[in-house]
Amino acid sequence: MEKTIVKIILVGDLGVGKTSLTLRYTEDRFDSENSFILLDQDFKIKEFLFDRNVLRVYIWDTFGQEKFKTIGVSFYRGVNGTVLVFDITNRASFERCITFWFNEAKRYTRVNSEMVLIGTKLDLVEHKIAERAVSYEEAKSFADEMGIQYLETSSKYNLNVTQLYADLINGIVESQ
Ligand code: GDP
Ligand code: MG
Repeated sequence: MEKTIVKIILVGDLGVGKTSLTLRYTEDRFDSENSFILLDQDFKIKEFLFDRNVLRVYIWDTFGQEKFKTIGVSFYRGVNGTVLVFDITNRASFERCITFWFNEAKRYTRVNSEMVLIGTKLDLVEHKIAERAVSYEEAKSFADEMGIQYLETSSKYNLNVTQLYADLINGIVESQ
């Protein structure tokens, strides 16, 4: 059986919920006790059968390097899919996504690699715990302009998390 390797990275400011998205997807868990969730290794692997091929997906997260200006070119090497992440209750994290992170990923990844924009912590808005700082329409119109998909997620309640990765992986497989 053939094995296809896929590399996915998550980029965005510290605290927006990148690691939480990865943990929910790969281990179906959520941690709200810690302000910054740490993975025990650099990446998580998820493997499944796809069209009679084995698809091995490496999901790379950054832990804390976000605080430096750039996370380094090697992180972007061989990337098939980029998840641009911001927190819908944090305006600055959106601004950084559409200025810095988007351009950074565009510059260092291959032209045919996939990209998706994700607004996290939807539950905080739905349960009126925090105010929305970025409207759905604004984020969607940026994504439309760039020709990428936009989804809002909650890692806490597992909303749209599986869909985000499934859509991205489908897009990657189709474009190969
Ligand atoms: P990262 O720095 O981007 O990797 O962010 P983390 O995954 O470490 O999450 C930062 C904080 O936001 C943690 O306290 C998480 O529990 C919290 N968090 C992440 N995703 C969600 C979410 O969907 N809903 C809520 N309510 N909190 C979240
Ligand atoms: Mg993290």
